[in-house]
Amino acid sequence: MAEFAGVSVSDISASASGQQPFVAAACFDPGQLRLRLPDSVEIRFDLKTAQVLRLSAVTLLFVTGESKSGNEDKNSFSRALKFEFGTENESRDFCSAVEKCRHGSLENGTVIVHKSKFDDKIESTSAKMYFHYYGQLLHQQNMLQDYVRTGTYYAAVVENRIDFHGRVVVDVGAGSGILSLFAAQAGAKHVYAVEASEMAEYARKLIDGNPSLRERITVVKGKVEEIDLPEKADILISEPMGTLLVNERMLESYVIARDRFLVSNGKMFPSIGRIHMAPFSDEYLYVEIANKALFWQQQNYYGVNLTSLYGSAFQGYFSQPVVDAFDPRLLVSPPTFHTLNFTNMKEEELYEIDIPLNYTATVGTRVHGLACWFDVLFDGSSVQRWLSTAPGSPTTHWYQLRCVLSQPLYVMAGQEITGRLLLVAHSAQSYTINLTLSVKMWGPGAEQGGILQTSTGKLDLKEPYYRLSQPQPYAWAQDQQQPQQQISSLQDLSPQIQDAVDPALMQQSSPNSTAL
Ligand code: SAH
Repeated sequence: MAEFAGVSVSDISASASGQQPFVAAACFDPGQLRLRLPDSVEIRFDLKTAQVLRLSAVTLLFVTGESKSGNEDKNSFSRALKFEFGTENESRDFCSAVEKCRHGSLENGTVIVHKSKFDDKIESTSAKMYFHYYGQLLHQQNMLQDYVRTGTYYAAVVENRIDFHGRVVVDVGAGSGILSLFAAQAGAKHVYAVEASEMAEYARKLIDGNPSLRERITVVKGKVEEIDLPEKADILISEPMGTLLVNERMLESYVIARDRFLVSNGKMFPSIGRIHMAPFSDEYLYVEIANKALFWQQQNYYGVNLTSLYGSAFQGYFSQPVVDAFDPRLLVSPPTFHTLNFTNMKEEELYEIDIPLNYTATVGTRVHGLACWFDVLFDGSSVQRWLSTAPGSPTTHWYQLRCVLSQPLYVMAGQEITGRLLLVAHSAQSYTINLTLSVKMWGPGAEQGGILQTSTGKLDLKEPYYRLSQPQPYAWAQDQQQPQQQISSLQDLSPQIQDAVDPALMQQSSPNSTAL
């Protein structure tokens, strides 16, 4: 806790005219400044309404709306105090302590806890569980052992040494500190590894165990929304992606870190992210989900009729997005994508993401919903690298995500599928997914337009169904009709084939993933 002893204080409020300066010790509590006078009288000032003005290098004017003294001076008006410090540094430290304690406190002299943009948006219980999760080594290990993920970051950094060498780097959400160590390996002048969870302590240990790099890395424990850094960064590195790219709402922290710490025109690794989407057909998955609710169709469960809850249970199962790795042959159209540019987007743009959907079915089949995945770009000065989580690409710990509709749609080859994917952020660090898919009129009379069938779903990204322990029924040999034209891999969605399908989709082809 910062304490300032021997501060000379003059009360220059109108009510105090003629009073002699006195020497006090100043210290801070959450939201409060305490002035201790030599005769052990204590005066407390509310920092929320206080203003500090610099009169000279060592003199500050402290104006406060109200004051509370030990003997409950209820009649006090706003007060103006002139503080004179021994050194310029002391006066500067005092100013920053006022700012830091305005909404919170200085803990252990290092961690600054005050209500921030993060606390305004996120329920404290959610944040607590979230940082508890990331505070455990087993979960960091799980990410480190995703070699597609970590290997792509490593390659993107070391192949773009030119972007790191001699530069100041901020690692946003450093976790174990691995990306900070990569940046230091690539010659960074200094890396600030910012990590809010208890993992910060392990990161310190890990970095300490690498003597050739540790001098150039400082671990800062705290949220990027709340901590301060002594200098601006030339480049930010981060792994803020969750399922469907946006889950966990950490992209918002990444964008806030950009605004707080990055020099203008600084680099971001990654710089953009894309959500890819395509309608899919998977009869097995649909039946599996629908069957889960059959339990509630029992009319005699220990003599109890359960059927009145069947409808709710059925909808409940379809509100869970399915996370697993699927065969890209299940896609019924070439995918489209929606780009998020981390370098220039506003944080608020992540609160609601509205994506119009438009596809042309390549096969006649039953559409069971929308399949989604993402990729991010490391736009290095030497090498561009994509980290892709596409179906058919090497599997990552993100897998892919499918939103299954409780009401499937029937399509013919060549028929248009339209719709909307609306992602609305919620305070539990995730999103509500609103999906609508419609099949446009087909055949005679189609020119008049019109929608034949529409199906909607509302899903909670926070409550996914991890389907990974199940056998993966990906073959087409099931009770589905074998489509005439299958999409056997994303490479098959190359511009040539898309050309034949729908030229409008050409510019939205999937990138050639260069993930390791
Ligand atoms: N960079 C590491 C860890 C990535 S996981 C790696 O690539 O292996 C994301 C990490 O960011 C977690 O450890 C989480 O605790 C941290 N984090 C999330 N939001 C944060 C925030 N607002 N401020 C600081 N750290 C945050």
